[in-house]
Amino acid sequence: MKLNLQIATTLGLTAFSTGIYSQTTPAERPNIIYIMSDDHAYQAISAYGGILKDIAPTPNIDRIAANGMRFDRCLVTNSISGPCRAVILTGKYSHLNGFIKNEGQPDFDGSQQTFPKLLQVAGYKTAMIGKWHLGSIPTGFDHWEILPGQGNYYNPDFINKDGKHTEKGYVTEIITKKCIEWIDEVKDSGKPFMLMMHHKAPHREWEPGPNELTRYKDITFPEPSTLFDDYSNRGTAEKTQDMTISKTMRIEEDIKMYKNRSKMKKTGLDRMNSEQMAAWDSVYDPIIRQFYKSDLKGNNLIRFKYQRYLQDYLACIAAVDRSVGEVLDFLRKSGLDKNTIVIYASDQGFYLGEHGWFDKRWMFEQSYRTPLLIQWPGIVKPGSINNDMVSNLDLAETFLDMAGTKVPSDMQGRSFVPVLKGKTPSNWRKEHYYHYYEYPGSHMVKRHYGMSTERYKLIHFYYDIDEWELYDLQADPHELRNVYDDPAYASVRKDLHKRLKKLMKKYNDSEASAQSFLPTKPKPRP
Ligand code: CA
Repeated sequence: MKLNLQIATTLGLTAFSTGIYSQTTPAERPNIIYIMSDDHAYQAISAYGGILKDIAPTPNIDRIAANGMRFDRCLVTNSISGPCRAVILTGKYSHLNGFIKNEGQPDFDGSQQTFPKLLQVAGYKTAMIGKWHLGSIPTGFDHWEILPGQGNYYNPDFINKDGKHTEKGYVTEIITKKCIEWIDEVKDSGKPFMLMMHHKAPHREWEPGPNELTRYKDITFPEPSTLFDDYSNRGTAEKTQDMTISKTMRIEEDIKMYKNRSKMKKTGLDRMNSEQMAAWDSVYDPIIRQFYKSDLKGNNLIRFKYQRYLQDYLACIAAVDRSVGEVLDFLRKSGLDKNTIVIYASDQGFYLGEHGWFDKRWMFEQSYRTPLLIQWPGIVKPGSINNDMVSNLDLAETFLDMAGTKVPSDMQGRSFVPVLKGKTPSNWRKEHYYHYYEYPGSHMVKRHYGMSTERYKLIHFYYDIDEWELYDLQADPHELRNVYDDPAYASVRKDLHKRLKKLMKKYNDSEASAQSFLPTKPKPRP
């Protein structure tokens, strides 16, 4: 404790000097459970509505929305896994935390300031369980157990302080069990706790668990209106990307239409034991046989791939939803629910066929927006919906504020605890800054930075091109028409440019500094 106080003083922290818990004792500080899935699109959470809500509901994740607040404008700063995770830990943009992309990237520098470390100093017990995806070993956690790299769905390996070991079963279920065991272990320690519960699902290769294999087998999902987008009225970046269901999505690996078992190694399905394999084959074999017999072409093949994609992706989510239900039930049974904040989020958004795409990366809505649901008994009004522009840049600051701990001045986001209390400050952000770097690389989405307001989006694609795009979300919610050169938008364009320049200065970013990051060599995607 003496050491903790010393560290606190060195870091300039005065415990409980600010925030809403200044009148309470440490014992009353809330526990924080941050549940994050990988690549979970808001379109695939029924609390968010959308075309899938009735056909693939998520009743347990929806409980968090019903008990708390649904954020409709939670945006990310750089829509790709590792970088998002680094932003969440540090409260800093990629160019300052040093983790700018997934590929060709040094490991996350775990010696830097992160919010779990600051919570430890403030007396919290901390843990990180599940997918980490930052290369280096986690720091700032009393307990950690992570999947190596992308992790496997079946019989996954885990790494902890003692090294690597393999566990039998399905990854979502194993992570859930480990998390509940840890909460049970620390709940009577006299200290508040903070748990990062990070699911691998529903990240590619979208492998449903034994309990969800047949969940959507016979379901036909509605198609998004832009499934056959031809990218007209947009620029080079949209026309030259490599992330379409049509051309990029692989028949064998992505939608698992294996003609030959040796291919299964690429996706980790070769880790299955004979019992798991038999259950898998009983579902997939008839689909595979029918597929090769039908010899689909053109739009019919795209439609088939879209259906297979969603069947598997949503079945993975069904297991995540069950996991969330188990955590909520455990909290209620143990009485922890009254003083525990539960957050459900994804690392970033994802395309479910919109613009003909899967994957993420773009500053367009489906990957730029990410789901965020928060329940906080006694503080957040149940069933509330918020439209303020919040960001993954704000999470570290918000968690520290929830714990009544001072937010360091070098973090670049802002605590949205006042927003959770229904009292959004009048000077809350009116624009949000974005910067994506991973090009050349998987899916060949060109480097871009930009800013969005409530109504508009200004984007600059750079590096090997120099093209600006402007979208009016009110007139064009599906982002199908770049109006940058439209004279009707001349004054809007001028205003947005001015505001973008200010934002870049505020966050200490520039195109020149971005150009200095070394290019990565194109590699086959993982
Ligand atoms: Ca991700």
